[in-house]
Amino acid sequence: MTTQKVLNFGPGPAKIPEPVLKKAQDELLNYNNTGMSIMELSHRSKDFENLINKTQKDLRTLLDIPNNYTILFMQGGGHTQFSAVVYNLLAAKKRKQFDNNSMEGEFNPPLDYIVTGSWSAKAAAEAKKLYNNVNIVLDVKKLRGSYGSIPPREEWKLSGSNAAYVYYCDNETVNGVEFNYVPEIDPSVPLVCDMSSNILSRKVDISKFSLIYAGAQKNIGPAGVTIVIVREDLLNRLEISDSKLPAIPSMLDYKVMAENNSLYNTPPMFSIYVASLVFEWLLENGGIKEIEKINSIKAAKLYDCINKSKIYKSPVEENVRSRMNVPFRIQPEELENEFLKGANELGMLQLKGHRSVGGIRASIYNAVPLEAVETLIQYMQEFERKHSQ
Ligand code: PMP
Repeated sequence: MTTQKVLNFGPGPAKIPEPVLKKAQDELLNYNNTGMSIMELSHRSKDFENLINKTQKDLRTLLDIPNNYTILFMQGGGHTQFSAVVYNLLAAKKRKQFDNNSMEGEFNPPLDYIVTGSWSAKAAAEAKKLYNNVNIVLDVKKLRGSYGSIPPREEWKLSGSNAAYVYYCDNETVNGVEFNYVPEIDPSVPLVCDMSSNILSRKVDISKFSLIYAGAQKNIGPAGVTIVIVREDLLNRLEISDSKLPAIPSMLDYKVMAENNSLYNTPPMFSIYVASLVFEWLLENGGIKEIEKINSIKAAKLYDCINKSKIYKSPVEENVRSRMNVPFRIQPEELENEFLKGANELGMLQLKGHRSVGGIRASIYNAVPLEAVETLIQYMQEFERKHSQ
């Protein structure tokens, strides 16, 4: 098969733009006239160094990342960042307190977690494993019985300037909940954001964040590399080596990664290479501005179909519906298997909802074209007609 004939609505690993896959295929045996594939080159070679620098430069252009932020290519996926954040930002907080001569008493600042879905819940649980003072600012499931909304600010319990950081997940991949604003917090407290499933889908003001991270396997490329965008002042810190938290393991250490231009150890070269092709593809197609327009149309059409339907129901409040992951239920739920089976037969794949919530989920990342969403909508409408007679 030389072209892809299926429509891939996978939540991650997800669709990669076809021109990117073709280019990778063309260059597979001979990268940049080196006579070998990118996977066989030394990570210390000039070719790879050029690639890593260009990948950073293109990402900086795409997201308009200010110069006082460093871009890192790390490993271990989003899950590893759940703990890397704790280690690095506590050490940064300690440095800040030390510099401000406010080190009296026990060092035990709270870590603030805003929990709006299963990924931020998992990040908070990981932080609790490592540290004894995690403050849950908001737990939507506890407050409302299920995820699907972002309650107003009056219900949040932020710790204020004392916190080492405030953490949230911009787009909850499983639950389909996306922030449509950046939370306002005490300006002296670092804001940390998991953008694994919506990075590069729309414009963001990077300067509002101290740290952003994103696993690759949605809008960036193949799993294996995790992108971290960190404000440089956070690399200045004091290592904590006491019973509360051990010294930062080198592979989790943003400073070590920054000092080595992400070449501290052998990086996931192929993943970085494909990410670079995805960034080029985005730039050639008008950058974030253009992709954001298409993403808005895709999501609006799909939600419109759900809103007008009598059998499809979104579990998410309208103002926080994700433009990347669209979960829905079918009523009656017994129809869901038939829906998935019919979709599969038509080549519409990976539409099953996450195992923890069930139902259907259409992930419509950057690489999923508008036509694919329109085909899905057509199928949904036909399925509904068939079942409402
Ligand atoms: N955060 C979000 C928002 C995610 O969607 C995921 C994975 N789907 C993760 C974190 C965990 O990523 P990984 O599987 O790369 O560890």
